[in-house]
Amino acid sequence: MTKLYGAIEAGGTKFVCAVSDADLNIVERVQIPTTVPAETMAQVFEFFDKYTVEAIAIGSFGPIDVNKNSATYGYVTTTPKKGWANYNFLGDMKAHYDVPYVWTTDVNVAAYGELKRGAAKGCQSCLYLTVGTGMGGGAVVNGKVLEGFGHPEMGHITMRRHPEDKYEGYCIYHKDCLEGLTCGPAVEERAGGVKAYDIPKDAKDWEIEAYYLAQACMDYTLILSPEKIVFGGGVSKQEQLFPMIRESFKEQMKDYVATPDLDDYIVHVELGDDAGITGCLLLAMEEAAK
Ligand code: ADP
Ligand code: ZN
Repeated sequence: MTKLYGAIEAGGTKFVCAVSDADLNIVERVQIPTTVPAETMAQVFEFFDKYTVEAIAIGSFGPIDVNKNSATYGYVTTTPKKGWANYNFLGDMKAHYDVPYVWTTDVNVAAYGELKRGAAKGCQSCLYLTVGTGMGGGAVVNGKVLEGFGHPEMGHITMRRHPEDKYEGYCIYHKDCLEGLTCGPAVEERAGGVKAYDIPKDAKDWEIEAYYLAQACMDYTLILSPEKIVFGGGVSKQEQLFPMIRESFKEQMKDYVATPDLDDYIVHVELGDDAGITGCLLLAMEEAAK
């Protein structure tokens, strides 16, 4: 019998569930809208009921509790998303399937996917940043996803303001944190309601966006020294951002740290929308082999 592995990429807009064999051949993959847990999870269970898997890895939107010593380990914690705050995601899964689990963030599994099969292949460490509806980051350090008492919340770091940026910021907690200044909705609000993909490629808005993303790359470089910084998410589809981020990074870093060549250091995802699910499947395989 072919051994099978399960993956759930749980996003705030949609869930992707997949089952594959040990060579990452996908047996089945589905997308489920993220509504309320009762509805969404019923479809998740309907999907996995069809298979016997060796292990399941879940990369979830957050914040989530990843601290194994915590009473609420496996819960989605403080999300404003209706019905999901204090939801015992992992517990609910375990009640249905008694298999080994990996439980981490959506950005950590994407970082892992890119490290093993994507833009950071061959590296031992990488940083994955997504700029979409929100802004966040995950990391792999020495081959392991990065967690501490909880998981990093890289999108909410404090920013030095671009001198010409008058936009107040989108974050409901901090206003002008990194997410508040760079996520898709922030880009659109700064531009007066223009859709991000309709903003001219030579607009000042992109210079401002690149300045903040470069500043974030500099800070993460100083803290983590990743071998690669990989950008995903809808906003990063604006390819003109990459040379601008690299240039601004160089200006802001002032050559203090000698990084790898910036063209190879700050790059776009290679696996695209498959980064997360690939990372989950690989983590599930590793967990099953323990
Ligand atoms: P999510 O974060 O919900 O998983 P995305 O990564 O696609 O989804 O992020 C959606 C955000 O990205 C929207 O705010 C949208 O403005 C922005 N976005 C999507 N596609 C593009 C694009 N081609 N260029 C610029 N911005 C985009
Ligand atoms: Zn914030």
